[in-house]
Amino acid sequence: MKTLGYAALSATSPLAPFAFERRALRPNDVAMEILYCGVCHSDLHTSRNDWGWTSFPNVPGHEIVGRVIEVGGEVTQHAVGDIVAVGCLVDSCQHCDQCHGGEEQYCRNGRTDTYNSPDRISGEITKGGYSKHIVVREEFVLSVPPGLDPARTGPLLCAGITTYSPLRTWNVGPGSRVGVIGLGGLGHMAVKLAAAMGAHVTVLSRSTDKQADALALGADSLLASSDKRAMAAAQASFDLIIDTVPVKHDLNPYLPLLDINGTLVIVGQVGPLAEPHTAHLILGRRSIAGSLIGGIAQTQELLDFCARKNIHPDCEMIRMDQVHEAFERMEKADVRYRFVIDMASLQA
Ligand code: NAP
Ligand code: ZN
Repeated sequence: MKTLGYAALSATSPLAPFAFERRALRPNDVAMEILYCGVCHSDLHTSRNDWGWTSFPNVPGHEIVGRVIEVGGEVTQHAVGDIVAVGCLVDSCQHCDQCHGGEEQYCRNGRTDTYNSPDRISGEITKGGYSKHIVVREEFVLSVPPGLDPARTGPLLCAGITTYSPLRTWNVGPGSRVGVIGLGGLGHMAVKLAAAMGAHVTVLSRSTDKQADALALGADSLLASSDKRAMAAAQASFDLIIDTVPVKHDLNPYLPLLDINGTLVIVGQVGPLAEPHTAHLILGRRSIAGSLIGGIAQTQELLDFCARKNIHPDCEMIRMDQVHEAFERMEKADVRYRFVIDMASLQA
């Protein structure tokens, strides 16, 4: 199937129109016309080869919502016309303990990412949602429940599940004290989801600029990490802190904010951090953890949770040809709070 997308041809070239082919349908495949795709900071990292593992040309995009246009002969879960979604994963081995446990993101035999990953059968590098069409095996295609607005559902597929998963892992519920470092795409979803679970939520932002937004999103307060006195006053007051900062940074100012047994879970920066001082960990039995997106079953659970609670990301709709500007604004943390590409704007 011929399709059109936007690709980075090298780490230094801006994304540009790129014609390519999607594979012919395998019996268990679903083909969809992409309607919307969210813009994640990982799209920017990968396009610029920040992590050193990008294959070019790179077509990013893993917050995908579309309409089914064709299904393979063995597909049972989706039908032509359905509104469906695809997140960060398009395949896994399906037989290891992690896949059996619904955590395909930790597949022992290597997950297949939606873009920049070798296809398990053809070896071709996967291409993501900044395109008109995509073909994905049915187990990795999610159903968008009727209560969700398709135009604002995309960001749940990465920003949403990446923050929902640690909230569930660390059993956040009524009375939990949750901090969120960085109020961007992931951060604003962490706030909405933790608040919906009944937690007491504090945004840890670099300044007080986003104070009104934080409260409007459902946080109880905002703590500016630049305010040393306020940071000292907040010591030992969190059970869980979700850290979404996308660059190298220092955890030492944040670790004392955890109560005894508290955990700081990193979902942002992949790579080195400034050295954490172990006294912060030892003197309060505190932990530093990491977490990667979430499994397929849990992603469907999140979509259903958001439909039930009427939770939508705050989206700014853009045209495909505005993605370069969107990347530049995202780097300056000038997005409130997720760009979504209207794929109807991409014409041959
Ligand atoms: P984003 O929308 O750009 O938000 C990041 C936020 O971090 C900003 O809004 C800003 O918040 C804060 N920040 C930015 N630059 C900073 C700096 N130099 N120092 C301190 N804080 C800074 O990004 P995103 O899409 O939420 O993604 C965040 C990170 O998560 C990226 O690295 C992305 O690759 C990663 N990610 C990980 C997973 C996973 O599975 N673990 C999944 C998706 C994304 P304030 O203005 O409030 O300070
Ligand atoms: Zn993402």
